[in-house]
Amino acid sequence: LPRQPAAPPLLALDIGGTLIKLVYTASCGGGAAGGAELRFAKFERRKLQECIEFLRAQGLLRCNGSTTGSSKENVTLKATGGGAYKFADDFREKLGVCLDKLDEMDSVVSGANFLLQNIPGAAFTHMNGKRSSIDISPNNLFPYLLVNIGSGVSILKVTGNRKFERVTGTHIGGGTMFGLAKLLTGCKSYDEFLQLSQKGDNFVLDLIVKDICGELVCQKQGLSTSTLASSFGKVITSKKKLTDYRPEDLASTLLSAFTYNIAQISFLVASLLGLRRVFFGGSYIRGHKSTMENISYAIDFWSQSQMQAVFLQHEGYLGALGALMSYGD
Ligand code: ADP
Repeated sequence: LPRQPAAPPLLALDIGGTLIKLVYTASCGGGAAGGAELRFAKFERRKLQECIEFLRAQGLLRCNGSTTGSSKENVTLKATGGGAYKFADDFREKLGVCLDKLDEMDSVVSGANFLLQNIPGAAFTHMNGKRSSIDISPNNLFPYLLVNIGSGVSILKVTGNRKFERVTGTHIGGGTMFGLAKLLTGCKSYDEFLQLSQKGDNFVLDLIVKDICGELVCQKQGLSTSTLASSFGKVITSKKKLTDYRPEDLASTLLSAFTYNIAQISFLVASLLGLRRVFFGGSYIRGHKSTMENISYAIDFWSQSQMQAVFLQHEGYLGALGALMSYGD
């Protein structure tokens, strides 16, 4: 971002149901040739105080009015997400910061379009263990489906810059999975949950086609033996109690159940709209390899390789990025 070296930093917030995301600029390079780089930070929403301390420490809440007692306006920050409305009074009263509230979907789309049009290598596929950057020329970017997996899931058809429609969504999203994960596995953080899932085996709890039909029948009927028939379905016929299951296996089962489900809904919506490219954003993905692998596998499987799942760098910050971009409006 080429900018005046003396320009104050820019900051935008996305206060979501689970996480507060920040994107801000910091000068780099120095001297007349200096520019600004983008920095990213996130906090749990319940730790708003930590977030405010971070903003203070970084000099991002510099207030140009309150210390002088003059009639000058206080600092105004671009903010999106539901919490921008809920916490607006807190920011104004406690910090003298005014939140300029932006529509969440507008911001998510602007953030995705900014990444896709300005940052080479921001888009990539993750399939069969391989991450590959994809080059998207501005001529063939639109239309695309954007699936933003946060606490809930929003599914948008994007047809241009600022042109989009929120087609649908589902309330069974990242918040649901992480909520169940906390109850079932006792995990304390999302990263701990992801780590547990890496060490687990979902087939301890999942019912696969072979379990129902037997291997021979499957082979005769040409069914794939390892196809998931029912997530958590094995629990029904087992005498085990919750404490008899390993948290690792529970985590792995949860992650695959939710990930495949969201990917399948995304495939169905993309098919209905005749779209072949599906971009995934939201903190649910968290740069986690097997989450991306499972989404890619499901999209490829259901579409018979006609559709492609594409991921974005900084996928959790689309809304905050879009809000930051709106300073230029
Ligand atoms: P929202 O804007 O609704 O807060 P996000 O895009 O920030 O949505 O995604 C929130 C989801 O991301 C959570 O429900 C969880 O599945 C996942 N997640 C990723 N990192 C974390 C974290 N550090 N703490 C809690 N959830 C996280």
